Amino acid sequence: MITLEKKVSLKNYTTYKIGGEAEYFYQANTKTELISAIQFALKEELEINIIGGGSNVLVSDKGVKGLTIRNMAKDINITDKVPNDFDIKKSFARYSQGEYMKFSDLEDDETKYERVLVEVQSGVNLTFFINQMINSGLTGIQYFSGIPGTIGGAVFNNIHGGTRIIGDLIYSAEVMDNEGKITEVNPDFFRFGYDESILHTNKYFLLSVKFVLFKGDQNIAKKIALEWTKRKKAIQPILPSAGSVFKNITEEERIAVGAPVNSSGWLIDQMGFKGFTIGGAKVYEKHANFIVNMGFAKQADVSAIIEKIQEKALDKYKLELIPEIIFKGEK
Ligand SMILES: Cc1cc2nc3c(=O)[nH]c(=O)nc-3n(C[C@H](O)[C@H](O)[C@H](O)COP(=O)(O)OP(=O)(O)OC[C@H]3O[C@@H](n4cnc5c(N)ncnc54)[C@H](O)[C@@H]3O)c2cc1C
Repeated sequence: MITLEKKVSLKNYTTYKIGGEAEYFYQANTKTELISAIQFALKEELEINIIGGGSNVLVSDKGVKGLTIRNMAKDINITDKVPNDFDIKKSFARYSQGEYMKFSDLEDDETKYERVLVEVQSGVNLTFFINQMINSGLTGIQYFSGIPGTIGGAVFNNIHGGTRIIGDLIYSAEVMDNEGKITEVNPDFFRFGYDESILHTNKYFLLSVKFVLFKGDQNIAKKIALEWTKRKKAIQPILPSAGSVFKNITEEERIAVGAPVNSSGWLIDQMGFKGFTIGGAKVYEKHANFIVNMGFAKQADVSAIIEKIQEKALDKYKLELIPEIIFKGEK
């Protein structure tokens, strides 16, 4: 039996500190609670909105119907399995290297190390997980340092850190479908792309993931984690945000518009939006792909800036800028 809260403001459960109320709210602290909450909502035919760290969402001022589940299921299990049947992939993350974002010096070829299978529940905080792994002498996940949120959100959007994407480390995962059936799936199931996974469309719930990590060099991993976080912090705002608002552009688009880099931030800057303000929301001066909350921003303010930028990009570059952040709730 689970006890739901009613009319809970979601503002404080997002890094944007923006948004209306959840009709019903439940915090799942274990995988069992997460499964029970989803099953309950399916039975009661409530819409389900799952959030982790709320670091990639823009929640509607009008709130979110149905049940919002804040997922904090947090177990980590370093197994004794050695996944030698796993092909190590290295996909290309759409990321421009520039003055601040050089990372060729922050790489370690981990294919030479012994492998380990680590099972982690979807509500685990990513930063906590990275630190736990490095402290246990396991590497491979350090490239995602400085990214807020949970494993669930990370897999949902196939997060990118430097040249890496998290989907490349996945051996298998446990998901629940919209009828409450739990299955173990392989990485192909997710159809990972840049900021993309099948979870965007099939609305399945991620319960846990098995990652292939390495008995790598702890000191190199620690250095990468610290340095990468430092470089990210140098260009990211202190004010509340949900990270980069738009996906970076493809290589074809970059060539078509004659941009030197495939960074959407660069294009937004070129269009003169740095410092552009509507209500309490502003395009961050140091990195134009961030729209910050100056303390009193509404979702409508952020959405209005997004629309203005999209209109201008279409007009000036014939380019459709696609949001990376996920809109939640009533339009
Ligand atoms: C300062 C800052 C820096 C950032 N830097 C980066 C970066 O370098 N690279 C990058 O890729 N991203 C970055 N992000 C974006 C964000 O941190 C990531 O997308 C993160 O992985 C989101 O995780 P979350 O738990 O906060 O997800 P949430 O924001 O809570 O949710 C995001 C989406 O995932 C879905 N979801 C969450 N958990 C589950 C689950 N268990 N099952 C199914 N669906 C689920 C939600 O329904 C929602 O649609 C940054 C954000 C901020 C604020």
